[in-house]
Amino acid sequence: MSLTRADLDALPTYVPGRSIPGAIKLASNEVPYGPLPGVVEAATEAAANSFRYPDMGVVALRERLADRLGVAVNRVATGCGSVALAEHVTRASCLPGDEIVYSWRSFEAYPIIAAGTGATSIRVPNTAEHGHDLAAMAAAVTSRTKLVIVCNPNNPTGTANRRAELDEFLDTVGPDVLVVLDEAYREFVTDPDIPDGVAAYADRPNVVVLRTFSKAWGLAGLRIGYLVAQPDVVATIGKVTTPFSSNLAAQAAAIAALDAEDEMRRRCDLVIAERTRVQAALDELLPGIPASQANFVWLPLGAGSAEFAGVCEANGVIVRPFQGDGVRVTIGTPEENDAFLAAAEKALV
Ligand code: PMP
Repeated sequence: MSLTRADLDALPTYVPGRSIPGAIKLASNEVPYGPLPGVVEAATEAAANSFRYPDMGVVALRERLADRLGVAVNRVATGCGSVALAEHVTRASCLPGDEIVYSWRSFEAYPIIAAGTGATSIRVPNTAEHGHDLAAMAAAVTSRTKLVIVCNPNNPTGTANRRAELDEFLDTVGPDVLVVLDEAYREFVTDPDIPDGVAAYADRPNVVVLRTFSKAWGLAGLRIGYLVAQPDVVATIGKVTTPFSSNLAAQAAAIAALDAEDEMRRRCDLVIAERTRVQAALDELLPGIPASQANFVWLPLGAGSAEFAGVCEANGVIVRPFQGDGVRVTIGTPEENDAFLAAAEKALV
């Protein structure tokens, strides 16, 4: 007899982007410019109190976020990365046997989170253009659906859904199913038709917007993210949140990062300019690359994905292959991107 759940035997373990000493890492969608000014000092200072538990209410950070986003503080929650918050939302909404609808391919953690609660994943295939098929996702909602996840922009394809189609999707799904808008890459969006989920939708009773400090804000290693939803939803999520899920150093560092917002914006703009350059260079090499609204690009290489990643690695660049499907490449510094483009040319020409 198995001591653990037999239904988890077939579940793949989350595979992180690899790091190889000396190699250029373009595999985990990090921004390559180091911690924002003031972050290391704030985290170090906080660590002096590391023998004490952190503020479980995360009041100072939640107040800052609420102020910045123009919402009441009881509409904001934080957690150990937005991936933990996605798990908390799922715990708060799904019982075993309930259904969670999401697009596929999308973020690798969604199936893991669904399986953790015993919920059934309903995967709706991406469109031929690698984006969410929102009409098909809405049509996949049944009386057993308790959660729909929309990843906007989508990891790993970089595609994003526009305001009109999201409006229609939310109206079709209706108010009785929780909808998570995962906006981990919001700060890299340049298309004005892609709505800011907090401003556009967080007033709806059933919408939860997830954001993270891991990407644009440069705090991936400290693990902190946040969500915005209605107070009753936030309160229920709070009941199933792992206690002290936002650690002391992360809380302080996130506040320091918010203080450095101008520098965050400057760095994102560098990444966006490089995204345009990398995408234009890749368009010469490979047809069908979707336009990215995130800090990575998607190469739909199908069966050739592993081989492409192998050539990149042999040339000192680590990218992220998704077996049989495509390769995701994070936008790095100009020098890192040049190294990647040189490797890509070797692999593709
Ligand atoms: N959502 C998406 C779409 C992501 O790509 C990621 C990170 N890869 C996360 C959430 C989780 O980010 P974190 O837990 O670091 O906040």
